[in-house]
Amino acid sequence: MTTHTEIAQQVLSGLGITDLESAALAGDWLETTGDVVQSIDPATGQPLGQIRLADADDYERVVQVTQEAFKAWRQWPAPRRGEVVRTLGELLREHKDDLGSLVSLEVGKIKSEGLGEVQEMIDMADLAVGMSRQLYGKSMHSERPEHRMYEQWHPLGPTGIITAFNFPVAVWAWNAMVAAVAGNSMIWKPSLKAPLTALAVSRLACEALERHSAPPIFNLIMGSDAEIGERLSGDRRLPLISATGSVRMGRRVGQVVAGRLGRSLLELGGNNAIVVMDDADLDLTLRAVVFAAVGTAGQRCTTCRRLFVHRSVADTLRQQIAAAFSSLAIGDPMQDRVLVGPLIDQEAVDNMQKALVEAQEQGGKLLCGGEVIEGDGYFVRPALVDARADMAVTCEETFAPILYVIEFDELEEAIAAHNAVPQGLSSAIFTRNLQNAERFLAATGSDCGIANVNIGTSGAEIGGAFGGEKDTGGGREAGSDAWKTYMRRQTCTINHSDELPLAQGVEFDIAS
Ligand code: NAD
Repeated sequence: MTTHTEIAQQVLSGLGITDLESAALAGDWLETTGDVVQSIDPATGQPLGQIRLADADDYERVVQVTQEAFKAWRQWPAPRRGEVVRTLGELLREHKDDLGSLVSLEVGKIKSEGLGEVQEMIDMADLAVGMSRQLYGKSMHSERPEHRMYEQWHPLGPTGIITAFNFPVAVWAWNAMVAAVAGNSMIWKPSLKAPLTALAVSRLACEALERHSAPPIFNLIMGSDAEIGERLSGDRRLPLISATGSVRMGRRVGQVVAGRLGRSLLELGGNNAIVVMDDADLDLTLRAVVFAAVGTAGQRCTTCRRLFVHRSVADTLRQQIAAAFSSLAIGDPMQDRVLVGPLIDQEAVDNMQKALVEAQEQGGKLLCGGEVIEGDGYFVRPALVDARADMAVTCEETFAPILYVIEFDELEEAIAAHNAVPQGLSSAIFTRNLQNAERFLAATGSDCGIANVNIGTSGAEIGGAFGGEKDTGGGREAGSDAWKTYMRRQTCTINHSDELPLAQGVEFDIAS
C-alpha cells in the first residue's frame, strides 16, 4: 500500500518540486540556509517532507524582488492582470485532485474537504477575474461650477499575507487573487505546519506568471515567527499586512503594524454559536450542527462551539447529537467513509483535554466523546458537553471538536448570551418563524460578521465579504467590496472653468 509520505512526494514531484529544501521564492527559488523543519502528517505522526527555513538575508531578497515587481505590475491594466489570475485558476483546476490530497495529508482534513479547499481557490480566481473589470470608483457632483469630482482606486503596494494552518491554501487565495487584480505584488508567509501545500501552490502561481511573462508578484517566505513573521509585520515597505490566525497572533501583528501606521487586515479566532428555536426543523438542525461542530475535526475558524437550544427541544436534540457523534467514522482522512480526521498535533490534543477538564471543573457535564484515540496520529472523539453560558471555558476558542450545549427559554436571553463572548465571527439560528429569524438578524441580534438562518456556522461562500467583529479582528476578505482594502483611494477634482472658486465659499483674492 502506498504510504502518505509516498503520496505527498508523488504530488510534489508531479508539480516539478524535487528539492524540498526551498523555503523562499523571490521570482525564482532561493537556496535558503536556515534550520530544517519537517512537515508532519497528523494522521501518522510521520514526516511528509522537509524544508530549510529562510533567514533575514533571504527575507531582504524576497522583499526587494516583491517591491520591484510591484512597480511593473501596477502599470498592467487590471483586466490584463485578471488574465494571469484566470490562468492560475485553470492550473488549479488541472491539479485539483493532487492539491486536495496534499491538503488532506498535511493538515488532516478529509479528502472531500481538501478538494473543497482547492475549489475555493478556483472560485476565488474566477471571482477575481470578474473583479478585475469592476474596480469601480464613484463620481459625485461638485459644489463649484464647471468642476468634476470622482474617486478612483489605485494599487496599494507590496502586501504581506500571513496564513493559518487550518486553511493552508484557501486563505492565501482569498487574499492573493484579489491583491493580484488590484495591482499588488505579495509575500506569503504560510504556517510552518503546512509548508508543502504552500510550496505546491506557489509553484503553480509561478507557472501562471511565466505563461504571461508577468513580473514576479507571487512570492513566498517560510521562517520562524520571531525572525520572519515579526520582520514582515514591522516592514514599512509593505503597506498592507493581511494576517489570519489566532487572536493572540492578531493582537501582536495588529500592534506592530499599527506602530508603523500600516494597514492590517485581521482574520482571527471565532467562538461561533447556533441558536435552535422550539419551532426549528430538527432533522435539518441536526445535520447542520454535526457538520459545523466536527467538520475539519473542529478546526475551522467558523466551527460551531456553542449550541443554544430552546429548553423544550433540548433533550431530543442532545440525544440525537450524542448518537450522531458516537457513530462518526474517525480515521485516515484519505479514506472515503471517514468524516473526522486528526487534530493537527499533540499540543492541540492536550489543549482539548485541558478544556474538557476545565469545563467539568466549572460545572459542565461531559455527555459523550472527548477521548484520545490510542495509536498513531492525533485522533480524538468529538465531545458533547452540557454547559452554562457563564462558564469561562465557553468564552474561549478551543481549536478542537467540543460542542457546549446551553439551554434557554427566550430568544432575547439566547442572543444576549450568544453575544457575550469576546469573538464575533459566525452565527446561525434554526427556526421556521420569520419573526425569530429577523430578530436574530436585526441590529439588536447577532453581533457577528456572519449571520445565517437555517444554515450552520461554517462553509461560507466566497461571494460575500468574509470576516468577523470584536476579537475576530474586523477584517473582510473574498467577495463584495473586500477588494477595497487592497487598494488606495484617491479623490480627484478637475476644474474645467476659467475661475478658481474655493470650496465652502471661502474668499481669498490675492489681486485685491
Ligand atoms: P496561529 O495564530 O498560531 O498562526 C497563524 C499564522 O500566524 C502562522 O503563519 C504563524 O506562523 C503566524 N504568526 C504567529 N505569530 C506571529 C508573529 N508574531 N508575527 C507574524 N506572524 C506570526 O494560528 P493557527 O494555529 O495556525 O490557526 C488557527 C487559528 O486561526 C484559530 O484561532 C482560527 O480561528 C484562526 N483562523 C481564523 C480565520 C478567519 O478567517 N477568521 C481563518 C482560519 C483560521
